Amino acid sequence: MVEKQVLLEVSELRKYYPISRGIFRRVAGYVKAVDGVSFSVNQGEVVGLIGESGCGKTTTGRCILRAITPTSGSILFHNGKAQDVTAMNRDELRDYRRNAQMIFQDPYSSLNPRMSVLEIVGEALYVNGVARGRALEDRVRVLMSQVGLKPEHMRRFPHAFSGGQRQRIGIARALALEPKLIVADEPTSALDVSIQAQIINLLQNLQKTLGLTYLLIAHDLSVIRHFSNRVVVLYVGQACEVSDTEELFRAPRHPYTEALLSAVPKPDPKRRGNRIVLGGEVPDPAAAPLGCKFHPRCPYSQEVCRTELPPMIEVSEDHFASCHFSETLKLRAV
Ligand code: SF4
Repeated sequence: MVEKQVLLEVSELRKYYPISRGIFRRVAGYVKAVDGVSFSVNQGEVVGLIGESGCGKTTTGRCILRAITPTSGSILFHNGKAQDVTAMNRDELRDYRRNAQMIFQDPYSSLNPRMSVLEIVGEALYVNGVARGRALEDRVRVLMSQVGLKPEHMRRFPHAFSGGQRQRIGIARALALEPKLIVADEPTSALDVSIQAQIINLLQNLQKTLGLTYLLIAHDLSVIRHFSNRVVVLYVGQACEVSDTEELFRAPRHPYTEALLSAVPKPDPKRRGNRIVLGGEVPDPAAAPLGCKFHPRCPYSQEVCRTELPPMIEVSEDHFASCHFSETLKLRAV
């Protein structure tokens, strides 16, 4: 069996935003966007982050890239030696960002309309002193071919490309410095359905040929099931389940995961009525309920759920869930 090598280890990650009130702008509370998330990503693996809007997926991804500074916790990046991303100085961060890149959700707003493809894709190469002049053009040519764009279009501007092609430009830009880790934040959700599969297949092919590791942020469970090896389910800033993808879809161990999976579209019309519709609203991350954060909406909630935060426990090999009853509940799979 091939030994798994950890590339990224996220431990107890927190990102709180202060809420200021009154004339003196005193801190009256915190929006807990990410509240103690832990998981790891192995080399060459695709880990999916899923959950409803506002659950902390994008904030987690941005903390990992140090686009924003976490409030607490550690993010260990293993590249020869383990380095804590949260404690890196400016020089260390510059090196780290060569190894960790992002693909953005919106291919329309994430590209500067005044820059040509050559400038967009080649910018990081130029700024980091990797290539200049003819060598830079050659490298951009290779990158464009890798993502399925015609290199002869490198002097065109983003408006001359379709949505799918713009996302390919964004992918070429992310690949420019040969990163080890790519955080892909909803890379297909702004695209037409017909284009989404092409982009997912492209990301998959690039992973195989370049040995990339992805942290895939998505709300489309079909994409997650198709593409990721493991899944982290987030609810109001906390991880509620972490598992191998097939195992998660076959045997979820947290009631929130069960509800999410019940929303996956089913081809059989007789099974479409099985969807679990959760009552109530997603709690405000500034005033989340005590105990299990899911208890006001959970169909299996009991007294203990209102007072005690369930710990994350290993329910089977490499399958973790934070529910007081994860070992006894019989939850429905897809
Ligand atoms: Fe539901 Fe209780 Fe489990 Fe939370 S701990 S998911 S409220 S059963």
